[in-house]
Amino acid sequence: MGSRTRRCSSPRSSTEPRDVWHDVRVAELIFYAGTMDCGKSTLALQTDHNHSSRGRSGIVFTRLDRAGESVLSSRLGLEVPAVEVDGDLDIRALVVERLSAGARIDYLICDEAQFYTEEQVDQLSTIVDDLGIDVYAFGIMTDFRTRLFPGSARLVELSDRVQVLQVEALCWCGARAIHNARTVHGEMVVEGSQVLVGDTTASPDAVSYEVLCRTHYRARMTSAVAKSAHMSAQPLPFAQ
Ligand SMILES: [Zn+2]
Repeated sequence: MGSRTRRCSSPRSSTEPRDVWHDVRVAELIFYAGTMDCGKSTLALQTDHNHSSRGRSGIVFTRLDRAGESVLSSRLGLEVPAVEVDGDLDIRALVVERLSAGARIDYLICDEAQFYTEEQVDQLSTIVDDLGIDVYAFGIMTDFRTRLFPGSARLVELSDRVQVLQVEALCWCGARAIHNARTVHGEMVVEGSQVLVGDTTASPDAVSYEVLCRTHYRARMTSAVAKSAHMSAQPLPFAQ
């Protein structure tokens, strides 16, 4: 944090000279954006750990995590309890209520932020500005049709900084994957509701998701389709 100081933990007396540019650490809304499989939830957990191990106090939020309600989990197997962000949850009211009850809150971790409503993202921005609490949001930028999620669009509009995660997900071909394709029976679909939670490790029968490069997204060539095309191109093992 360097020379920056906390706004809420270093109150100044009214007789001290006030230099807002140097002495007030302004809280920030930061949006960490990535595709699936880029380690977003792992980074969310690591960020929570880094801040809490330095004595800061935070609340973890998530929505529709793969591990179930009210838990933030990563593919690497770590998890922490979290507040589930239902569609009608007023995040700001929850934070104000906890502050009023005497809790100390320095930061919020908001995972799966693409699923938050625009109103909830607006609440996050007022929590930063009015309450001096840092908000670290983590989410996927676009849906299975390559369109921005409303929550992610609002985060791009309001965040102080947008960080694109540097761990790149890879398409089955090895190219950088930038799209989250939805698959049913291993085949890509482009119709359906925007939010439909699948399991990337489930059987091929289930709704699932797969990261693809733009070329293979446009060709609708998932790994299963590519594999079957490759198999059918092989010569038969014996003469007819
Ligand atoms: Zn590809």
